Amino acid sequence: MSEVPSARFGPVTVYFGAAHGKYPDGNQVIVRGADSAVAFDTPLVANRLAAQLRAVDRVILGHVHEDHMAGLHLLPDAPIHVHAADLQAARSWDGLARHYGYPRPVLDALQLKIRRDFHYAPRPDASGYADGATWELGGGVRVRALHLPGHTAGHCALLVEPDGIAFIGDIDLSGFGPYYGDASSSLADFRRSLQRLPQLPARAWITSHHKGAITDRTDFERLLAAFARRIDERQARLLQLLQAGACTLAELVRARLLYPPHASELWIDCAEQRSIQQHLDELVEAGRVQHDPASGRYRTAS
Ligand SMILES: [Zn+2]
Repeated sequence: MSEVPSARFGPVTVYFGAAHGKYPDGNQVIVRGADSAVAFDTPLVANRLAAQLRAVDRVILGHVHEDHMAGLHLLPDAPIHVHAADLQAARSWDGLARHYGYPRPVLDALQLKIRRDFHYAPRPDASGYADGATWELGGGVRVRALHLPGHTAGHCALLVEPDGIAFIGDIDLSGFGPYYGDASSSLADFRRSLQRLPQLPARAWITSHHKGAITDRTDFERLLAAFARRIDERQARLLQLLQAGACTLAELVRARLLYPPHASELWIDCAEQRSIQQHLDELVEAGRVQHDPASGRYRTAS
């Protein structure tokens, strides 16, 4: 098996998943202090890093999704830490099912898929942490959790101090843009988290997918601005669809706001529906869109 490419930033090593950690893979971060070592998440690539994983003392999850738990089965005895708002999703399939919030037939198919493709196993032993939680790794190396919800309710950045290396998880700065398509996702929270992210005292930013490691603040801010703009672009397209004629939510889901027409993952219609509904709610609240409960149709406010 070929060696996994990696990059080192002081106490932090990033192991890059296949295709730069593009979903379904991700980038594995391991932080080594003088006394102990931690893994941030365990994407699929963790399964090619068994020796490195076995040397960690604990796993801190930045959030819960199937692609971030794919190596936990390698560490059955390691303590697993996750923000309290994502804790039930880590502990049981029922918790994860509520976290996704999809209809039962989709959940049933998804459970089979993530067992097969992501080595999925719940962790009833996982423990919850709060915003601001810290872990001392020895030699002055410390990890601090910073709650940046939106992608999931418990999504956190994990900041390695004093070096200022920030693991920003699925605020992944990808061309796709922010994902807020699950029951536990929130568009409003995601907007606030994107505003707060540049204030983190960081000098390097590591994403779970795609971008990997960014070491220049100007590059980071440019990528972050483009990522955040995807939300505005989706809103503009939604208004355009509504200007062309009143639509029901089901029609808007069929027209697709996030995914290209050929994309065929199990959850796409559910994610489209949840995302579009949040945009519609915002636009109705702002008085820019009207909803007719009788017909279920949305139209732009005249
Ligand atoms: Zn995720």
